[in-house]
Amino acid sequence: MARIEFENLAHAYRPNPATLDDYALQPMSMVWEDGGAYALLGPSGCGKTTLLNIVSGLVTPSGGKVRFDGRDVTGQSPRERNIAQVFQFPVIYDTMSVFDNLAFPLRNRNMPAAEVNRRVHEVAEILDMTRELPRKASNLAADAKQKISLGRGLVRRDVAAILFDEPLTVIDPRMKWMLRRQLKKIHQQLKLTLIYVTHDQVEALTFADEVVVMTNGRVVQKGGPEALFLRPDHAFVGYFIGSPGMNLCPVELDADGVKLGAQRVLLDADTLAALKHAGGPFTLGIRPEFVRLAHEGEPGAARAQLLRVQQLGNYQLVAAQCDGHLINAKLEPHLRVPDGSVWLKLAAPETVFFSNDERIPVKVAERTVR
Ligand code: ATP
Repeated sequence: MARIEFENLAHAYRPNPATLDDYALQPMSMVWEDGGAYALLGPSGCGKTTLLNIVSGLVTPSGGKVRFDGRDVTGQSPRERNIAQVFQFPVIYDTMSVFDNLAFPLRNRNMPAAEVNRRVHEVAEILDMTRELPRKASNLAADAKQKISLGRGLVRRDVAAILFDEPLTVIDPRMKWMLRRQLKKIHQQLKLTLIYVTHDQVEALTFADEVVVMTNGRVVQKGGPEALFLRPDHAFVGYFIGSPGMNLCPVELDADGVKLGAQRVLLDADTLAALKHAGGPFTLGIRPEFVRLAHEGEPGAARAQLLRVQQLGNYQLVAAQCDGHLINAKLEPHLRVPDGSVWLKLAAPETVFFSNDERIPVKVAERTVR
């Protein structure tokens, strides 16, 4: 397996890109560690497949370099790079048996028959397909065919990396969960370098050691689930991770806090100084999990109008409007929420502030009075 490095990598499908918007991938430098399990997460069109195809060699970047273990592979084909890629839909030989499909990449590399047999059985066992090995692939259901595609990626141990492009799309939800667990287990056993593309945050967070979040052709954060949840580097990460995502409100700096429209939210001196230093435009971000009901006039709180309350079993999802901005709060299921006007604590230790969408590195003090 390989350590993969991007050096000023960029890609534009159109010739002569003039502005950053012309790039499917904006210039970036980053490292994918040897043996790491990464998920590439982002909405449709953000550049995930382009990035994956640049790693595999299916797309040659219009700028920068790709290195495997320090070796420049930018001009090499997928075969020369020794990459296994599993796509959204099964790529298998219908006329062959399941065994022969799994054995194909090994026989292609002249592996001795006994070793082929051992590897194929090992992978079939992991994927719970041992009984299907003699069957013709054409007779199998779509999810079983996709399991063969996964198996063909996993059967080789000499690859630099295995790339998955939304491989579980055709798999039914219950099986999806099981296969994700299996992939994670395989990764722990074999320490493969895996890059897994998805637009589903649950899939990304359960599979990967590190999630790489993309938007508009940019990587905006690379980190574990906790960092993405508690310390989003970019407002987009706050919005995209979580259900519902982070409350994001544009605010203006004031003498002793920030103003959300006409509402004033008091802040501690250190936070104010950090905001001043960073410069605006500012966004206040707080996850629904951390918003709580406050007393009237409580420091760090703002008045809001209740819109609706949804009882969801283990919590109630409260939606309120604070000076034209929607605030979601996940509150204890039995807490009584007053009708009409409510006070919500928005400046809490878990609150984050963004300057121009980038997080300002400061923690709001427990007590938010100056
Ligand atoms: P999805 O989840 O929908 O597959 P994605 O995040 O994988 O999206 P890409 O397929 O990499 O995104 O696309 C990134 C941008 O590049 C999009 O604006 C897309 O329209 C554009 N694009 C992708 N492939 C090509 C191509 N072959 N020619 C021109 N533009 C392309």
